[in-house]
Amino acid sequence: MTKDQIIGAIHEGYTDVPAIKACTRAGTSCGSCVPMLKQLLSVAGVQLSKALCEHFDHSRQELFEIVQVRGIRTFSQLVTEHGRGRGCDICKPAVASILASLGNGYVLDGEQASLQDTNDHFLANIQRDGTYSVVPRIPGGEITPEKLIVIGEVARDFNLYTKITGGQRIDLFGARVEQLPQIWRRLVDAGFESGHAYGKALRTIKSCVGSTWCRYGVQDSVGLAVALELRYRGLRAPHKIKSAVSGCARECAEARSKDFGIIATDNGWNLYVGGNGGFRPRHADLFASDLSTDDLVTYIDRFLMFYIRTADRLQRTAAWIEAMDGGLDHLRAVIVDDSLGLCAELDAAMARHVDLYEDEWRATIEDPERLRRFASFVNAPDTPDPSISFDVERGQPVPALGERRPVALGLPTIGVRP
Ligand code: SF4
Repeated sequence: MTKDQIIGAIHEGYTDVPAIKACTRAGTSCGSCVPMLKQLLSVAGVQLSKALCEHFDHSRQELFEIVQVRGIRTFSQLVTEHGRGRGCDICKPAVASILASLGNGYVLDGEQASLQDTNDHFLANIQRDGTYSVVPRIPGGEITPEKLIVIGEVARDFNLYTKITGGQRIDLFGARVEQLPQIWRRLVDAGFESGHAYGKALRTIKSCVGSTWCRYGVQDSVGLAVALELRYRGLRAPHKIKSAVSGCARECAEARSKDFGIIATDNGWNLYVGGNGGFRPRHADLFASDLSTDDLVTYIDRFLMFYIRTADRLQRTAAWIEAMDGGLDHLRAVIVDDSLGLCAELDAAMARHVDLYEDEWRATIEDPERLRRFASFVNAPDTPDPSISFDVERGQPVPALGERRPVALGLPTIGVRP
C-alpha cells in the first residue's frame, strides 16, 4: 500500500481511519502505520474526531479524567453513564488500561477479563502457532547463576525454545495455554515475577555494567536500573514503555533509544525522554542534566504519570511529546516548575502504584478460580491442543513447518557439547 493510494482513498471520501483501513487494508496488520494515516488525513484538511471510537465521544484523556474523578471501577458503568452500546476492540482494552493504571486490582477479575486483548487475557504473548511465550522479569538484566539455571531447567522440562531478548531478559517460547500456570509456578517459586511482556506497561530497564565493573563507568548503572525497574514494574500505560541506564557517555545500554533513558555523568545523571526504536526510530531528547538520584526519580515519576494521564490510546512517548502544545519545554514546565499545579497529584499517583503493586502471576497461581481460564478446551481442561506440533531447528523446538521459511546458507554452526 503506497502513500498515493491512501491519499487517493481520502479523496474518494474515506475520511476517517476505520474507513481507510477497511478500504485499503492499511493499518490492519501490525498497526504501526495508523499514526501515519492520521497524519495524511490531517494534511488533507480532514478535521479528525477526538472520539475514542463509536461508543464514546470522549478522547482517552477525557475518559481517564472521568474514571478518576468519578471513581468509576467498571467498563459497564463508564459506557452506561458516558457512552453507548457494548464497546469494541478499541475502547475495551483502552478502558481496561485506564482502570489498571488507576489501580483497580487484578486485571482479569470480574468484568475486566472480557475487556483485555488476547495477550493480557492469558498474561502471556500469543505466537503464530497458537502457543504462548513466557517472559519472567529480570530487573536491569541482572540475574544470578541459580536463577539462570532455573530458567534453563524450566525450558528443558517443558520443551520450550529460549531466546535472549533486546531488553536483557530471556523469552521462553512454545508453551501451551494449560502449561502456563505450571511453568509460572516453578518460576514464581524460584523468585521470578511477571515481566509484563504481554501488556501495554513498563517492559524493561536495560543497563550496562557501569562503575561496578567497567573502567569507564562513573555511576552504578545496574543498581539504578534495578531500583527503577522494581519501582515501575506493573505500571500500565497507553503503550509499552522501555528504558535503559548507561554508566557513562559511551552509552552502551542505548538509553537514548528509549521512552526514558538515563546516562551517568561525573555529577549525577542526565535524563532523556521520548526515544524509541520500532517503525519510526527516534533518539530521545535531553530533559535535564546532572540530576541527583532523588530528583531523577521524581522527574521520571511525574513524566510517566503525566504520560499515562494525557496520552492518546496506543501513543508512545515520542509521539505524545511531538503532539504536545509547547513540546519538550511545556513538559519541562509541568514536571520541573509545576506549571499546571499537578505535581503533588502525579507524585501521589506514583506512590499509590508502588504501594499497590502485586505480581499478576503469583496472584494467578494462588487462586484456583483464576486458574480455570488456562485450558485449551473448556470441557477437557487437561487435554492439549492436538494441532500444535514442533520441528527442531538449531537444537531447539520451533513451530512445525507451514509457511515458515528457515534460512539455510550452509554456513558453519556452533556445536553443542554432549
Ligand atoms: S556505557 Fe560506559 S560504563 Fe557502561 S559499559 Fe559502556 S563504557 Fe562502560
